[in-house]
Amino acid sequence: MIEHFDVVVVGAGISGIGAGYHLKTQAPDRSYVILEGRDRLGGTWDLFRYPGIRSDSDMYTLGYSFKPWTEAKAIADGGSILRYLEETAREHDIERHIRYAHRVVSAAWSTADAAWTVTAERGPEQERVVFTCNFLFMCSGYYNYAKGHAPEFPGAEQFAGRIVHPQFWPADLDYSGKRVVVIGSGATAVTLVPEMAKTAAHVTMLQRSPTYVVSRPSEDGFANWLRRRLPGKAAYAIVRWRNVLFGQYFYSRTRKYPEQAKQRIVGWVRDHLGPDYDVEKHFTPKYNPWDQRLCLVPDADLFEAIKGGGASVVTERIERFTPTGIRLETGEELSADVIVTATGLELQLMSGITLTVDGGAADPSKSLNYKGMMFSDIPNLALSFGYTNASWTLKADLTCAYVCRLLNTMKARGLRQATPRVGDDDVAPEPFLDFTSGYVQRAVDLFPKQGSKQPWKLHQNYTKDLMALRFGSVDEGMEFSNPAPKPDRRAA
Ligand SMILES: Cc1cc2nc3c(=O)[nH]c(=O)nc-3n(C[C@H](O)[C@H](O)[C@H](O)COP(=O)(O)OP(=O)(O)OC[C@H]3O[C@@H](n4cnc5c(N)ncnc54)[C@H](O)[C@@H]3O)c2cc1C
Repeated sequence: MIEHFDVVVVGAGISGIGAGYHLKTQAPDRSYVILEGRDRLGGTWDLFRYPGIRSDSDMYTLGYSFKPWTEAKAIADGGSILRYLEETAREHDIERHIRYAHRVVSAAWSTADAAWTVTAERGPEQERVVFTCNFLFMCSGYYNYAKGHAPEFPGAEQFAGRIVHPQFWPADLDYSGKRVVVIGSGATAVTLVPEMAKTAAHVTMLQRSPTYVVSRPSEDGFANWLRRRLPGKAAYAIVRWRNVLFGQYFYSRTRKYPEQAKQRIVGWVRDHLGPDYDVEKHFTPKYNPWDQRLCLVPDADLFEAIKGGGASVVTERIERFTPTGIRLETGEELSADVIVTATGLELQLMSGITLTVDGGAADPSKSLNYKGMMFSDIPNLALSFGYTNASWTLKADLTCAYVCRLLNTMKARGLRQATPRVGDDDVAPEPFLDFTSGYVQRAVDLFPKQGSKQPWKLHQNYTKDLMALRFGSVDEGMEFSNPAPKPDRRAA
């Protein structure tokens, strides 16, 4: 049996649950289903279970615009974020729309039917299940759920201890009293190190090169004060906007005055670690701030762990793993009982599903991205992809609202198909993501290009996107077509 829905949403993480809310409130006459490959909702916030897992942006912007974040901590732990998502799904009756254990593997568009045929594999038996829909909304995140990025280290098979990747944290791992080496310098490494240092004998953060690390209080004093005085929604809206505007200001200043920003950020680290610590070597990257993502640490916990002696940073290249630890290119050896390879994610666009349009292969990586969510020449398909310089949800919210706007426009015009077309415009292709980080560079060929001008250019700016997506033209660069066929009178 093939079931039909107006909209198929793929994924029940922040984006997919947000999509459910927006469809219910802004396009309530449209039927929808959320196909989720895993057995639970939450996506990232359910998958990652490593010690200390937390947000690295504030919950007033990582939370939805429509549901106030009411906990005291602005930098929240993974469990609280998951509870917030479960609560959202419950409050808005979204859970009944979710089909768990349905992993979508392909989608085929037919112009004649104005529909996608979506094929999923159900359960461990991978039973084939087929749906049709008029609009496909990919809320599948941006990385491979099945495997993380795991470079091969020579000698790894000789290491006598345990090697762990944070994406697949073993529930039985007991590291108390053990010597731990965490390989990496990104958000996961700076989260793990202070947390594991609480009980491990010692934790070494082993990095090839440093990252910018900025400390912020885990609790937002002003937000907590305001919440006691104003209704929850009003207080949330004020703090959310303050954080959006402050984030945009901080980002634009760092891009405009990179040298001053660099001195400032590194200066803050020096203030925490004192004049005798080699901040130059361990916390001063060669690139400018925001050429790669900044790492946020709450209440300077990483620096406190270093000062307390429970953790240390080594900035060197690895030669090989040995039975007892890791030998560096300098010849020095780091002893370890547990090695954590916090070497990152494997980026993936639309979870690698196979797409066709009228029988021909459709490859989003060869297309131009439209308004940060659709793809040239691929009809009735949007992807929720958040900001790289601000909280993901800010953009996910705008994308969900825009998809509803598009659906309502198609309905009002009696047209069943919306296809972004580049036309004759003189649009030069540019990289989709401009980060120099290894994980982005490794995946650059998988991503579409953005264009040099509207509506193909990514703003990476919430205020601009809000104006463009809420009030801008829906016709710009978009071909609306495919009226529903008139009923055949003779047949009647
Ligand atoms: C450890 C970690 C910490 C992060 N911290 C922050 C932060 O503090 N701030 C921030 O802005 N961003 C952060 N991010 C980015 C984060 O992923 C986003 O904030 C957000 O959770 C993404 O939500 P999403 O719903 O778009 O995708 P995901 O959370 O990745 O959810 C995607 C869902 O789609 C499902 N899915 C995927 N493919 C298929 C398929 N083919 N068929 C069916 N289902 C499928 C998955 O199972 C999953 O449930 C972090 C990421 C990680 C890994």
